[in-house]
Amino acid sequence: LTAVSAAAALTLTACGGDSGDDEGGSGAAQGKVGVILPDTTSSVRWENFDRPYLEQAFKAAGVQYDIQNAEGDPQRFQTIADQMITNGVTVLAVSGLDSNSAAAVQRKAQQQGVKTIDYDRLTLGGVADYYVSFDNVKVGEELGKGLQKCLGDKNADIVYLNGAPTDNNATLFAQGAHNILDKVSTYKKVAEQAVPDWEPQQAATIFEQMWTQQNGKIDGVLAANDGVGNAAISILKKNRAAGKVPVTGQDGTLEGLQNILDGNQCMTVYKPVKQEADAAAKLAVALIKGEKAETNGTVNDPQGKRQVPSVLLIPIGVDKNNVKRVVDDGFVKKEDLCKGA
Ligand code: BGC
Repeated sequence: LTAVSAAAALTLTACGGDSGDDEGGSGAAQGKVGVILPDTTSSVRWENFDRPYLEQAFKAAGVQYDIQNAEGDPQRFQTIADQMITNGVTVLAVSGLDSNSAAAVQRKAQQQGVKTIDYDRLTLGGVADYYVSFDNVKVGEELGKGLQKCLGDKNADIVYLNGAPTDNNATLFAQGAHNILDKVSTYKKVAEQAVPDWEPQQAATIFEQMWTQQNGKIDGVLAANDGVGNAAISILKKNRAAGKVPVTGQDGTLEGLQNILDGNQCMTVYKPVKQEADAAAKLAVALIKGEKAETNGTVNDPQGKRQVPSVLLIPIGVDKNNVKRVVDDGFVKKEDLCKGA
């Protein structure tokens, strides 16, 4: 039934084309931007969305670029950075695997006169000139609100599957979720654990242990992204409880949206990554030109004891009623989504 209404909503418009490109106008900027993405296993977003949108944005801005993926290995992260600096990048944007290794890379870059940007993840104790991301506490609040909408005000035992303990975003997501859920007097947190490296495999193991420990008395799962959520759903399926226990997610991935249409996932948080990539390209161009970039706030780095000038974008909670929002952006294709729905 839920799939039907969502599918109906989807038919309202055909798959829209991409909206207009970001035309800088003022001619090509001298310089080269390096981007290091964290891995390929914590979310499909990095290779499926960030990479193509970043490519588009740099092309539109007329700057040279080199985008690479550290594949979950801090050593590799370091090596890529060294190579990029040797090859003449003037701006380095990173999504770190952990703050220590990312901060080391940034300090080294700084010594070579290379400007740095924190892309999506804040490097605690780092030296980035700018930070571009979504409002990550708000992401967590959307997760909390989404779960609350699915649970209503009944008594509910809730478990939390947080993101990687090494990712500052995971801390902010959990904080935001607690901001909402801790205020509901009928909810009780019965377990909370961080998933190392955001690995779905590990999330499944952790959730299965929680399920056993609680004797299957779990009423809601605050899962920090779609991969982690899908891992929980796989265990719920094994226990014939999928669809009965609401599970959250994040990233608006095909998998997450399909789980929503199937009635197995309560919601996801969609983050229009194109906006993030466009903003990153703008910041990079400003740094190359030695101009001041436009920001809309600052983010506190408690470790570095500094305020980082930031561009913070707005995340969107998506459930079965507004899946269309993600399709309209061209983020997922209607054909792919409706397969088997
Ligand atoms: C990102 C999420 C992503 C997660 C795992 C976070 O830092 O903000 O979008 O799902 O990392 O890659």
